[in-house]
Order: sequence, then C-alpha cells, then structure tokens
Amino acid sequence: METTPHETLYGKNPTELTVLCDRMGLPRFAARQLARWLYKRHTEDPARMTDLAAANRERLSAQFAPALAAPVRVTESADGTRKYLYATSGGHFVETAYIPDGERATLCVSSQAGCRMGCTFCATGRQGLQRSLTAAEILNQIVSLPERDRLTNLVFMGMGEPLDNTDNVLRALEIITSEWGFGWSPTRVTVSTAGVVPELGRLLDATRVHLAVSLHNPFHDERAAIMPVERVWPISEVAAILRQYDFTHQRRVSFEYILMEGLNDTPRHVRELCRLLNGIRCRINLIRFHRIPGSPYYSPAPEAMIRFRDALTARGIQTTIRASRGEDIQAACGLLSTSELNMKN
Ligand code: SF4
Repeated sequence: METTPHETLYGKNPTELTVLCDRMGLPRFAARQLARWLYKRHTEDPARMTDLAAANRERLSAQFAPALAAPVRVTESADGTRKYLYATSGGHFVETAYIPDGERATLCVSSQAGCRMGCTFCATGRQGLQRSLTAAEILNQIVSLPERDRLTNLVFMGMGEPLDNTDNVLRALEIITSEWGFGWSPTRVTVSTAGVVPELGRLLDATRVHLAVSLHNPFHDERAAIMPVERVWPISEVAAILRQYDFTHQRRVSFEYILMEGLNDTPRHVRELCRLLNGIRCRINLIRFHRIPGSPYYSPAPEAMIRFRDALTARGIQTTIRASRGEDIQAACGLLSTSELNMKN
C-alpha cells in the first residue's frame, strides 16, 4: 500500500512504524530509530535522522508530510498565563494555555477544533464541532510549545471533548506516557470529560491518567439545561461507572464545578452533590464562572465560593477553589479561537 502525501510520521507508535518499515523495505530496527528521533528528540524531518541510510531518509522525506508547526499567535496575561493559537488542517484553530505556577507549569491542550457537546456556558460549545484533531495535532501543542521543556503537567481541558475523539486522544496519551515516547508518568496527566458514558471505561482501562469530570450541577433537569450531554448520558450513569474503579492509589478523579450565581450554588445543590458522589473517593474543584460576552450567567462573589466550599468540606467531600488564571486574556476555553474565526469571517 502506498502512503499518501498527507500521511505523517509523527503520531505513529512503534508497531505502526515497524509496519511502515516493512512496507518501505527499511530494516525493522529502523522503527526504534524513528521513534527515538520523533519522540525523544522531537525531530520529524527524515533528512536530520543521521543514523538512517541516506537513501531511506530521502524516501521518507518524499512520502511523509510534516506535522509539527509553531503556534501562530500568543497572548500573555498579567499573571503569566500564555494562550497560544495553533493552526490545524482545514483552516481551523485551536488554543492551548500555558499556566506557570511556581515550580509547576501546566499545559491545557485541546483535543478538537470546536466541540459538539453544546454546553451553554462555553464559548467553544457555541462554535459547534469543526473537526477532531489527529494525535499528531494534539502532540504538536506540546512539542512546538516554546516552554516545552519547562512543563510539569498536562490537562486535556482545552477545546473539545476528549472522549468524542477517543482514538486520537488514546494514541496521544500512549506516546506521552510510554518509555519509547515522551516517558511522562501518567500521574502528570489529567483528561477532562463532560461524561461520554460509552467511552469512559475505555479511557480508564487503557490508561492510568487522572480523570476530571465536568459536573456543574447534580440535578438531571438543571444539568441538562446547561449541558445537553446530560440528556443522553446522565451524570448518575457516569457516577455508577466510576464506582467500579479504584481511585485510592496513584489515580485520582475530580469533579469540576463552575459556580454560577443563583444557578447551582444553594444548600440544595450541596446535599444532592453528596448523594450523587457517595461511594466515590474524589475531590471537587470549584471554579469561578468567567463571564463571557453575551452570556446570561454571572460570576459569584468570592464569599459565596467560600461558603459553598465549606459546606461540601463539612460533609466530607474534599473541595478546593481553583484560582482563576488568565481572565484578562479571556482564558475561558474557546474564546481566543472564536475571535480568530470572527476576524477571518
Ligand atoms: Fe465542549 Fe468542554 Fe465546552 Fe462543554 S465545556 S462545550 S465539553 S469544550
């Protein structure tokens, strides 16, 4: 089978690289050499792979397209958060947030351009889904980042629903966490989901990464009003799956809860959260709603955040308030790429 000009070397695992070597008549040990160049040295240009025979380098160069490209724009917040915009194929953009915090430096990566989950409080949801990213496009956000070598943690919390693009997200995670890949511990990686029930077990079985679930409201009807995914895959079903997994060793599950004034911040919500999460060893992260242009929702007062946190903690659920970062550069997911799209249209 001949390769197409759009096929990339970057994003292939060693099994696929071995198949590729067989197909092109390269020795099988070249697969290991290729993986080392791609994922240890972050070099995808065959011309620079000096331990391959010159003729093989030329053939690889002729057959594979480059996948890695620097971000096209950066916006920096007063608090040091940097929001990068990456171009993807088809003329779409995704954003990636670099969040330094003392010794830690977290990168928030996107898994799709746009998103079809339609959460009403989210700018990305308003774009709809443009396309799912390939594994190489997901990895490019890490590899082509100017601060790549300072990163300590990765979160899949940017644009898109990772479990609406499970194949490519699992492929990227395999490359990030394998010895032959980036060699990261899975405990440095968190995947966030709105709760795609049919794919959840697949992620939990295939990886050891941490999980974050976007909860935002424990009541079915109220959650469905802001997160259409609830109508198809209720949060109660997500909780039932999570009860089957062990979150006491190494792996953590947390629930993200964007507090919106008057909408999900009452004692009634506290009680229902405790009932819903009963039996799951977890943590709740409270996030202050970032008001986005045209949104009907409001940010709660800092005292309301503290009251809600204390009420949950008093009932035995470890709850933290996540510091808002990058508010001045519209760091809520989807905003930067939305404005880029608006400029183009
Ligand atoms: Fe998609 Fe996440 Fe936005 Fe919901 S919050 S629309 S899942 S990107």
